[in-house]
Amino acid sequence: MTSLILEEVRHAFDGVVAVDGLSLEVGLGEIVCLLGPSGCGKTTSLRIAAGLEHLQQGRVSIGGAVVADGRTTSVPPEKRNIGMVFQDYALFPHLTARENVAFGLAAQPAAAARKAADEMLARVGLAAYGDQYPHALSGGEQQRVALARALAPRPKLMLLDEPFANLDVRLRDQVRDDSLTLLKEAGIAALLVTHDPEEAMRMADRIAVMRKGRIVQQGSPVDLYTRPIDGFMVRFFNEVNVLNGVVKSGYVTVTGAPLEAPGLPDDTPVEILIRPEGIAVRGTGAGGCSASIAATVHRARLMGPYSLTILRLSDGSELTARTPGKPPEAGQAVRLHLDPEHVFVFPRSG
Ligand code: ATP
Repeated sequence: MTSLILEEVRHAFDGVVAVDGLSLEVGLGEIVCLLGPSGCGKTTSLRIAAGLEHLQQGRVSIGGAVVADGRTTSVPPEKRNIGMVFQDYALFPHLTARENVAFGLAAQPAAAARKAADEMLARVGLAAYGDQYPHALSGGEQQRVALARALAPRPKLMLLDEPFANLDVRLRDQVRDDSLTLLKEAGIAALLVTHDPEEAMRMADRIAVMRKGRIVQQGSPVDLYTRPIDGFMVRFFNEVNVLNGVVKSGYVTVTGAPLEAPGLPDDTPVEILIRPEGIAVRGTGAGGCSASIAATVHRARLMGPYSLTILRLSDGSELTARTPGKPPEAGQAVRLHLDPEHVFVFPRSG
């Protein structure tokens, strides 16, 4: 059984396609992040799931029932049994925290709604704040009231649009972790929109990465990080070094050192993407092997627990390495060893 299914959803604004055949499922109790660069169609997809945007084409099902099919069926947002949290929290300024949380419980007798609201405020760590108005609450507290308000009616599904984006960096991690715990404890499925890969890695059971209205790859955070399908996916999660090359007999070389390019025919122009953490910098004393690359340290800087080192290769190209501990000295001759888990070879597009 699934909480949410989007099937072949298409949406255009004034003829300009924003969502282009998106299919996505969120399982029971599963947290799925819709991740992608600005303007790729994340918010539109979420608004379609919520019923805030009219479905033009495709099908949306929630809890096993079709709620929109672009033709006859269109269940309004308030009947979809979903909770929503947005970036701006959208609390009612003239209502206290308790009244905000109780707002969605209007079907219950007032005393019961008040009790349920207080319980939910306690769950988000705001038991003492029931009588406060939003203007007297910090951003993190407002966000937690918004979360409590969305959770109070015990929805099957939560839809969250960049809910942590307005929080101070120091608060963000805490509020994210608290929200994740709450959702998991309550067994509520969630679709969370974010443009921040780190947030998606922290929160998601599964990540669906969008680009230009389509999902380019989905899987667990580990899947996406270890088995990206193209250069866009590698770049999206990391700052990476990019070199160009041409395939010969299943290999591409970086200043003579061979790297595997499996499945690519001879003469394919490729880009070689090397994560900074995949470069080990060693002294020349240990002797080189065919897979190591000669380089000179151009610049290096200690960044706290790690160092960033700019290395110059014999052909003049530069690589940035992220290595633990103190930086090597500028001007030093070194040998670089590449960790295959952090090196990707893809055909050059365009
Ligand atoms: P961001 O991370 O910046 O919020 P997003 O991935 O959520 O971006 P959407 O907000 O879904 O992207 O927008 C997708 C595309 O649709 C964009 O090109 C946007 O300009 C356009 N768009 C969104 N809403 C409307 C609207 N109401 N009218 C016209 N165009 C719109």
